[in-house]
Amino acid sequence: MVLGAKNTENRRKSSAEREAEEIVGYEIFGDPVKPVHNGKKMTLSSQIVRIEKGRNSFDLWLVLSSVGKEMKLYIPLKKHRQFIRWENTGKPASSVVIHRDYVQISFEIETGEKKEFGKAVGIDAGINHLMTASEREFLGNDIKPLISKIKRKRQGSEAYKRAKKELSYYIHKTVKDYFENRDLKLVVTEKLKDLKLNTKEKNKTKEFRKTLSNWNYRELLNIIQMRCEENRVSFRSVSPFMTSQRCPRCAHAQRENRKGEEFECLSCGYSEQADFVGSLNILHRFLTGRYGAGFKTFLI
Ligand SMILES: [Zn+2]
Repeated sequence: MVLGAKNTENRRKSSAEREAEEIVGYEIFGDPVKPVHNGKKMTLSSQIVRIEKGRNSFDLWLVLSSVGKEMKLYIPLKKHRQFIRWENTGKPASSVVIHRDYVQISFEIETGEKKEFGKAVGIDAGINHLMTASEREFLGNDIKPLISKIKRKRQGSEAYKRAKKELSYYIHKTVKDYFENRDLKLVVTEKLKDLKLNTKEKNKTKEFRKTLSNWNYRELLNIIQMRCEENRVSFRSVSPFMTSQRCPRCAHAQRENRKGEEFECLSCGYSEQADFVGSLNILHRFLTGRYGAGFKTFLI
């Protein structure tokens, strides 16, 4: 054997390869190939993908059998805490989505009927306060320093990943605490918005673009929705159009009504914290909309 030669027959297999062999129950020949993810997400039904328990260094293995002719794909995974909780409910995963950096495994969980009583709130998501609720509550006020911390790290480094994780943990915890301490019936948020459209001038700076790229708005919405499901709270979302520029008192909408964190209506003079105004408008938009009728009676 010449060192570095391509003959793989006698090559020492890695522990991951050996684990994969153990799972499929036969020896795998040939060089392992690291597949390249093209960036698009791939949704797989539970018929195509098999989830196997890991034996050694990994918690789980995804085994995809219909990737190509006589080809199988083995993806080793680590579980996170929430996964372990859901896994123990005994339901098998209903679908698997392979993203570029992570794999999303969905479970169907019976949560029962949605609650009929409780408060209806609008929630505005932002980078000054993670969540501002229409009860005039500001939650997750440490979000900015956490994002700044990520920005200071070199992208891809261990410290960078740690800082990202810390932010993610903070978001999870803030949302969890919020739901635990309130009796809610309905939560309304904005549909996924392009934050860049709302902040034209700020967006010109590189710094601000960096802030946005580290601020995972979609993740926050997913977490809120998940907690709603768990707590039998109805979850709805509305169009984000002008929610932070419309006056909740006289309905006058003008871009200049908002200056940073301050809202001041140029028509009637009403002034308030801008994110709070946003949350009022979000709730209002849903309740006065086509689908809001069923919820109104409990609020007014
Ligand atoms: Zn006004």
